[in-house]
Amino acid sequence: MSVQNQEFLREVLRKEIKDHKIPISLGKTCPVKCAFCYEMDLSYRQTFDMPLTTQEDWEFILSEIQTFPTRETESWVLGGNEYMEWTDLALHPKAMDWIEEFLDKTDKNIIMFSVGYFDPARINRLSEKYPGRINFELSVITLGSYRKQLMPKGPSVSQVLEVLDGPAVTSANFYSFGPNTMSEDAQTISKINKNCLLWMGCLTPLKYIDETTTALMRQGKQFLPDEAHKIYNMNLPNIQMIHTESDITAFLNRNKIIKTFDACELDKKDWIVMAGNVYRVLKMFRQGRARFLYVPNETLGGDSDCTTLLTFSDVAKRISTQKVVHLPRVIMEKSSNDERDISGVSFDEFKEQFPRVRFKVLNRVNSNLSNKKLYEKGYLKNYVEDYLLNPLSKKFECVAHPN
Ligand code: SF4
Repeated sequence: MSVQNQEFLREVLRKEIKDHKIPISLGKTCPVKCAFCYEMDLSYRQTFDMPLTTQEDWEFILSEIQTFPTRETESWVLGGNEYMEWTDLALHPKAMDWIEEFLDKTDKNIIMFSVGYFDPARINRLSEKYPGRINFELSVITLGSYRKQLMPKGPSVSQVLEVLDGPAVTSANFYSFGPNTMSEDAQTISKINKNCLLWMGCLTPLKYIDETTTALMRQGKQFLPDEAHKIYNMNLPNIQMIHTESDITAFLNRNKIIKTFDACELDKKDWIVMAGNVYRVLKMFRQGRARFLYVPNETLGGDSDCTTLLTFSDVAKRISTQKVVHLPRVIMEKSSNDERDISGVSFDEFKEQFPRVRFKVLNRVNSNLSNKKLYEKGYLKNYVEDYLLNPLSKKFECVAHPN
């Protein structure tokens, strides 16, 4: 490899490290080939092909990370890069050794995502050796009959259960795909591990997900209320959260959304950008207080319906005669360093397309607010008691999006 090329690759690694990522690479696309993988279409963001991480690369990564100060509340992420494709990094032959070295040589915490390819005995031993420093989010997805279809090359159910049996896994995510899917998995997982957080919900079909998988995800959403009710009645000891449904989250946080909207002090002639989830809330409770510029999530497509995940290209498609447009800050917070959307387009590049339009940023509508709210009302209990059992939620579901 030429020195120039080597320097370029190091620059990509530095960028990831700046965002608190541990940028290991498998040097190829993810071999697990999950049917629901959101990394199937990377066209929405810029990524670089990185070779398999070598021992020399690792030493560079670790020494760079060591130059950063340690903050107690911060974790370094293994398995969620920005400029490199996501893969299951547990499949890197040196992953375990390097995780151990990271824990040994730094005082930093680590958060890692995997479908479960770690050696169960070793990962559980590491958690005992470094208590409180590993946050392991295990993507169980499903333990039932749909597993083969969704994760043809995923680890076996028995491997996943072995990983779960110990202190390593801090949270297990799995979803509703129809009757007795999420509820049975909740019971099985809770029997083995009473301490891990159960992170549940549905998978949202995006535009590049195949038809069969899309149908299965939609079936899951249809049965989510039944499945959640069953789990609610089980009285499991684990913390239980439902996280993936943006419309449900918006409804549960409607008071905060309304309060924030009011605090923006908009005039009834002002145009304000929002996706379908917030549109429904404001249409129900603040009709006529501003002009709602509903923007579909076209970049992600499928059933996505979330203001946080809008892109500038989505917004551009909806602008016609407006002279002033109010934009929520949240759509330009991809990274903490500059104003970019999730696809990497900068606010300045976007503004250049519309020299006659003035854009005003609503700073109160930021990701701090949306992330905090997501967690506050993200419990299964909230979903059952304050959404499913609240007659207002039926009315909310009937609010149609404009054309
Ligand atoms: S393991 Fe993760 S990255 Fe790999 S195919 Fe499955 S969902 Fe995608």
